[in-house]
Amino acid sequence: MLESSLLGQVRGYINGEWVGGGDDTLPVYNPANGQLLAEVPNMGAEETRQAVESARASLKQPASLEQRREWLAGIAKALTENREEIGRILTMEHGKPLKEGQGEVDYAAGFFSYCAEHVDELAPRKLEEKPRGCDWTVHYRPAGVVGLITPWNFPIGMIAKKLSAALAADCPSVIKPSSKTPLTMIALFSLLHDVVKLPPGKVNLVMGSSGPIGDVLMDHPDVRVISFTGSTEVGKELIRKSADQVKKLTLELGGNAPFIVFDDADLDVAADQLMANKFRGGGQTCVCANRILVHSAVAEAFGNKVKERVNKLTVGDGMEPGTDIGPLIDRSGYHKVRRHAADALEKGATLIAGDVPAPIENDWGGFFPPTVLQGATAEMACWKEETFGPLVPLVHFDSEEQALELANQTEFGLASYLFTADDARAQRMMAGLEFAHVGYNTGTGPTPEAPFGGMKQSGYGREGGLEGLFEFIEPQTVPKG
Ligand code: NAP
Repeated sequence: MLESSLLGQVRGYINGEWVGGGDDTLPVYNPANGQLLAEVPNMGAEETRQAVESARASLKQPASLEQRREWLAGIAKALTENREEIGRILTMEHGKPLKEGQGEVDYAAGFFSYCAEHVDELAPRKLEEKPRGCDWTVHYRPAGVVGLITPWNFPIGMIAKKLSAALAADCPSVIKPSSKTPLTMIALFSLLHDVVKLPPGKVNLVMGSSGPIGDVLMDHPDVRVISFTGSTEVGKELIRKSADQVKKLTLELGGNAPFIVFDDADLDVAADQLMANKFRGGGQTCVCANRILVHSAVAEAFGNKVKERVNKLTVGDGMEPGTDIGPLIDRSGYHKVRRHAADALEKGATLIAGDVPAPIENDWGGFFPPTVLQGATAEMACWKEETFGPLVPLVHFDSEEQALELANQTEFGLASYLFTADDARAQRMMAGLEFAHVGYNTGTGPTPEAPFGGMKQSGYGREGGLEGLFEFIEPQTVPKG
């Protein structure tokens, strides 16, 4: 079992108290070695209803902007001070290298700091104009109780994006982490309880069966906003379920990012950026390059640069110093990457680095080598689906028009990347790319200061930046006669 000063209570949290902890539990495993890390309570509909009611009751005690700023800054500080321990817990349950786990804690702290610095944007706004002879004021009211549902791939980063904006808006929340990575969330709650001392009901934690918990969050009339990050499949289910109550949704769903390298690009820069972008979290990120589009004239040279870099990567337990890529989260994640690699090879791609390893038997994680394929095509599964693993399929193109058409050939519209020395071409490409994030000569992903979200089936709503700060707000307009 995982021992930690931040895991004194491995339980849910409702109305300011740790709850749950009976016989009905769910195991949490280390994907690097199958070690049982903890048994967490398998909570359900009844606890979720209690959490919603406790959140609703807390709406009766609104917090001033000053108080919210203090909480947000306090959480940022607590995260920063505990970055090593939270990073360790995160690495143990997710598998990513420790330096990445700790880096993710810094990233999470950045969202709370950003909201603390900008919470004054939510002060009432008086209009300079006086239409209809009235004084007009816009009040930024909290939308009400919010349900925050997060995935396993960024156990602290994803909740930070949502919770920082919810607290800034003064919305109480009911939070559900992924069953694969609940321990990092519990560690966060231990800081919210012991260090920041949020009032009862402001934040509530339920974990366990996603069906019953999700259903209560969707059916309860007091839950006004659901902010969900996860698969497009579950996102669509939530859209359908939200219709009866016209519930507001913020959806951060899957991606299928193109990474486009033109023949005039600096190939070393592009290769270095691809490495940083693609292999973070072992390739299990929504923003990582999934389809690498390379101009035919430089395809071989670029492939060789990528191969050279990939061959230097170390795959292993994220707790081992020197590990670049940890295990994939579970057997099904491993077999998806394996299926994509095998399918591409069968359909004519060439293996230039890595391997297609044997199937695995265990349910917890598996180590997949970083694998590079030349000559992938749009007929292959790795083109059509989000691989979510360390597979790098290089697809060739011959013209700007073709690159744009290929890049947009997906139902997703999250992140994209573009490498060229020609600014006019870059501007044309950006205008045509149907993606909400376009890295231009960089593989960098989201940051707390800028809005991030999806177009098309990657979702709607934004997290980060001023746009994200307003996600849990209902503007109320008051003309005074
Ligand atoms: P997932 O299976 O959709 O699960 C996400 C969360 O939803 C988990 O907490 C899960 O709980 C819960 N859930 C599952 N079914 C539910 C239901 N019917 N009602 C309510 N909640 C439900 O996704 P995942 O495998 O954890 O995450 C990977 C996906 O997330 C990828 O597609 C990735 O692209 C996407 N993602 C997107 C972004 C973005 O910013 N757009 C960021 C990160 C990840 P359980 O774990 O308990 O089942």
